[in-house]
Amino acid sequence: MHKRKLLIVEDETDLQRLLRYNFESQGYEVSVAKDAESSLQIARRQKPDLMILDIMLPKMDGLELCRILREETDVPILFLTARKSEMDRIMGFRLGADDYVIKPFSIRELLVRVEAIMRRFEAKSSGKKTNKRPGVTVIGAIQIDGDRHEVKINGRVKIFPPKEYALLKHLIKADGRVMTREQLLERIWGHEPDDIVDTRTVDQHVARLRRKLGRERTRLVTVTNEGYRLVAD
Ligand code: CA
Repeated sequence: MHKRKLLIVEDETDLQRLLRYNFESQGYEVSVAKDAESSLQIARRQKPDLMILDIMLPKMDGLELCRILREETDVPILFLTARKSEMDRIMGFRLGADDYVIKPFSIRELLVRVEAIMRRFEAKSSGKKTNKRPGVTVIGAIQIDGDRHEVKINGRVKIFPPKEYALLKHLIKADGRVMTREQLLERIWGHEPDDIVDTRTVDQHVARLRRKLGRERTRLVTVTNEGYRLVAD
């Protein structure tokens, strides 16, 4: 049977040990990273089924890590947070986390939460079963391969710089709903200083993205005074 792979990003050794011990006894295959930077490498290599992120980490924090992960993967993410104010940020910025648990927590509760996320996620992915490879989304003549970070238009590979790729992915993920400029700015450029990027940055990238989409550009709709949405059919 496939063992679920769990990647825990936590810099406190005692907590690392406690988490590892408990999840391993529940049958999980557990990897531990003590900082965000090394966890990214492990995540890219191991493709975990779920990640638990501490927020206060030595260099890059858990929120920033989540933002980067979300540009690359749909892995379920659960935050461990020590402060209520952090929880507000997690929810407020809609970073795409699946759940959070406030420290100090009961290990039982954490196990239950993780189990619930896994079930939800597995049900969702098995419901989507088609004959194409997982991770590939097709919208008209646009084909996005999330595993390879590759976009094809009319079957031809197009080069998308990371921000344009992220923009396309976020719009696809919104599933036809409008994404405001502020949301896109926060999710894609959130870690860059305000004096360098603003909502016009989003508009500029949308314009570039449209050019690349060729005849499919009409799918990327401007909703006046609101933002952008991507129309599937
Ligand atoms: Ca910590």
